[in-house]
Amino acid sequence: MLVNDDGIAAPGLAALRSAVQDRGEVTVVAPQQQHSGMSHAITIHRPLRLRQTEQGHILNGTPADCVIMALNGLRLKPDFLLSGINHGANLGSDVLYSGTVAAALEGVLNGIPSIAFSLAGPEEYLSDAAEIVRELLFQDPGFLLHPDLLPQAGVLNINIPGLPKAEIKGVRFTRLGVRRYESMVQMRRDPRGDSYYWLGGTPGTLKSKELDIDIAAVDQGYVSVTPLQFDLTNYQELERLRSRKRVPT
Ligand code: MN
Repeated sequence: MLVNDDGIAAPGLAALRSAVQDRGEVTVVAPQQQHSGMSHAITIHRPLRLRQTEQGHILNGTPADCVIMALNGLRLKPDFLLSGINHGANLGSDVLYSGTVAAALEGVLNGIPSIAFSLAGPEEYLSDAAEIVRELLFQDPGFLLHPDLLPQAGVLNINIPGLPKAEIKGVRFTRLGVRRYESMVQMRRDPRGDSYYWLGGTPGTLKSKELDIDIAAVDQGYVSVTPLQFDLTNYQELERLRSRKRVPT
């Protein structure tokens, strides 16, 4: 099953389809419109409409809605859920906002092995990214789809640098870094002189060059593969709280 957060018409979804469609039965369930930055939002206060088209099933909801609808409404039983290819990076703290990653996490919550793909660069490299996806998934011996590698209880978050395929240096297994954005809130003036705002700036300059961090790996031309889990429990802190002498009763 394929899903994304940029909407059914996004070239990234078409690129993902082109990468996998001759290797199995593919079903697309995607949002009607752009839903980047919606994270794991679900629609519970208005009705949802599902349309079947040549491109796939189109839902007027969020990425997570699409996965819930596919598994519980359409009763699909996919072997794998692939989300993307997102237009833009999902690195470091981006994963908390990402609809692409949330859709994959929703797959995992339902027991479906799920992978999120993002292109950390401009659209012109989508076909290069699709070739990378294809190699990661199917290159003998089926790199990511190998049972030893694909996590059953978590998502693989994969970011592909915006480069021609020949310039990509390889694959790195990474942990999440921290991504801070500069000029996150931009104020503009409308024709009447009133102020309005746009959220979203440019990522700040990278401090770390450690290749075990997703942001640095992509910055230096590597495909980054980060295993994620939805359990946000801070186990270290849990231990610290439990070891306190005075415990509230
Ligand atoms: Mn997106």
